[in-house]
Amino acid sequence: MKVFVKEFTVSTKSREDIVNITREVEKIVAESGIKNGIVLVYVPHATALLIVNEDEPGLRTDYLSKLLQVFPRDGQYLHNRIDDNANAHLASAMVGSSRIFPLVNGRIVRGTWQEILLVDMDGPRARRVIVEVLGE
Ligand code: ZN
Repeated sequence: MKVFVKEFTVSTKSREDIVNITREVEKIVAESGIKNGIVLVYVPHATALLIVNEDEPGLRTDYLSKLLQVFPRDGQYLHNRIDDNANAHLASAMVGSSRIFPLVNGRIVRGTWQEILLVDMDGPRARRVIVEVLGE
C-alpha cells in the first residue's frame, strides 16, 4: 500500500466563510498516482469544519445561517469567559473536521452535487487542509 500526504492552505475572508476545496483535493489525488483506496481530507483546526454537499450560492448562505442558528455567536457559553469563539468550537465539534472518500480508478467517488467545502466559523485566517491518500 502506498501513502501520499500533502497539505495546502486556504485564506478565509470573514468570520464565517465557505471555501470550495474540491479541485485542490482532486489535484493532490491525481499527483499521488494512487488509483484505488481511500482519501482522507482533514482540517487540523478546532473552529473550522468540513461539509460534503452542494456548492450553490443560496445554499452557502443557508449553511451559515443554520450553523449560526444552532450555534449562535452570543449563546451562553462558558468558553467565552476566556475566548469569544465557543460557537465555532461547538460547530466544529458537532459537524466534524475530517471526511473520508472512496478512491476508485483514480477518482474520488462523490455525487454530482457533492463538493468538499471548508467552513470557517472563526475567521478570517489561513486554514490548513491535509489530504492523505492511501491505496495502490
Ligand atoms: Zn476558543
